[in-house]
Amino acid sequence: MTQHHVVIIGSGFGGLFAAKALKKSNVKITMIAETSHHLFQPLLYQVATGILSAGEISPATREVLHRQHNVEILLGTVEDIDVEAKIVHWSSLNRKKQTSYDTVIVAAGAGQSYFGNDHFATYAPGMKTIDDALELRARIFSAFELAEIEEDPAEIEKLLTFVVVGAGPTGVEMAGQIRELADKTLRGEYRNFDPSDARVILADGVDLPLSQFGEKLGNRTKTALEKLGVEVRTGTLVTEIDEHSVTMRAKDGSEEVVPCACKVWAAGVQGNPLGKKLTDQVGAEVDRAGRVLVNADLTLPGRDDVFVVGDLMSYKNVPGVAQGAIQSARFVADLIDARVSGREPRRTVFEYKDKGSMATISKFEAVVSIGKLKLSGFIAWMAWLFLHLLYIAGFKNQLATLVRWFVSFMSNNRSARNITNQQMLGRLALQKLDKDEFDEIMSSVHNVQDETAESKNIDEGGAES
Ligand SMILES: Cc1cc2nc3c(=O)[nH]c(=O)nc-3n(C[C@H](O)[C@H](O)[C@H](O)COP(=O)(O)OP(=O)(O)OC[C@H]3O[C@@H](n4cnc5c(N)ncnc54)[C@H](O)[C@@H]3O)c2cc1C
Repeated sequence: MTQHHVVIIGSGFGGLFAAKALKKSNVKITMIAETSHHLFQPLLYQVATGILSAGEISPATREVLHRQHNVEILLGTVEDIDVEAKIVHWSSLNRKKQTSYDTVIVAAGAGQSYFGNDHFATYAPGMKTIDDALELRARIFSAFELAEIEEDPAEIEKLLTFVVVGAGPTGVEMAGQIRELADKTLRGEYRNFDPSDARVILADGVDLPLSQFGEKLGNRTKTALEKLGVEVRTGTLVTEIDEHSVTMRAKDGSEEVVPCACKVWAAGVQGNPLGKKLTDQVGAEVDRAGRVLVNADLTLPGRDDVFVVGDLMSYKNVPGVAQGAIQSARFVADLIDARVSGREPRRTVFEYKDKGSMATISKFEAVVSIGKLKLSGFIAWMAWLFLHLLYIAGFKNQLATLVRWFVSFMSNNRSARNITNQQMLGRLALQKLDKDEFDEIMSSVHNVQDETAESKNIDEGGAES
């Protein structure tokens, strides 16, 4: 009898924890992900501001799972999932592939939403991937470099104004870090301006930063940010972004155009487009953020062989956080193992256990909310430090991160400050290529021809071409 074949799409928290939870099951697992690494998104802001290097938060998935012999890992982008034929259509570089499955776990996560203003993305990158963080790092540090050679005071002011849109954890962390970078790390390094003059504006339509942490911690966050020198503009909507400025509208209707070079988008998520492709096939629905409205056992309505976990699922207000992905992945893995081995599952209905939320504001200052327990300041920061270290994949990365943090927190130094033009321009340059130009470059790199003929011979699963 052939082994039950589970295809997992994505190597984030959902994908990785689903694979790990199936380690002892009698299944063959194929993980298809469009990045070769597992990404610890909560620390992306530290890569963007030069504290950590990319590798420290994104170990190769192959390395993380190398001892788990029932998993094969394939680098590729899933384009579609045919739920009737039970086939995943994907491509790797320019090669078209198909993989059949018995059960599929879709853990493709969510991307950035610009709320219908997609042109903002050109000027205000989001923060979802390593590429995003490196692009932002290049934009942030190059603003200081340009200020050093600029002579026009108005231009210098523009270069030294940073606008972060979105006052959730990512926005708060980014705003706090850019201020600390300017005020402490870069102190005394430039000859023609004072980096501590840098303005950091944090804008959001809500009334308080970190509003999901409650009023007390929201107020505490606002005070701590202002003490750092961040201008907190809550109750403020960003209505336009171009290369030179950000336009903001306050609650009273007044508009202000703030000249600034570097903008960061940390507002809004949009479920991966694979979600809609799934629901369209079975007549199910996605929510307003494009996440799949799943059944209580996290299956796609009408398909008990298709599970959706993590940020891409929409179920009973489960938040888009790491624990939501981890818990849903483990729940689904147990259901699959139970089906394959003929035992009863531990639970048949998914219940999310809220383990709390936390965010750092600056060095030694964080907020933690666990049920009724609200912590802030140094104790909260220690809790944040401990927990984040615990969840970074791989002992090597944990150790490296700990050393980096020690150096950075004790001395204000940041050792990952290198920037390149490729990091800064790569995304926008790639968007300008048409398909022929892209294919030409691709084939010159790997001698990969565009394979339009789709693969055949799909039998027991695995990658067929
Ligand atoms: C900047 C930032 C900060 C955060 N901070 C926190 C925090 O402090 N605490 C917390 O709990 N949560 C935090 N989160 C949320 C947390 O990271 C997510 O909830 C979690 O990563 C969701 O896991 P996931 O597996 O569903 O999706 P992801 O981790 O996004 O993984 C998606 C995977 O799918 C792959 N993929 C996507 N599309 C395709 C495709 N078409 N084909 C193949 N593969 C594909 C991706 O490459 C990736 O491997 C943060 C998120 C961000 C972006």
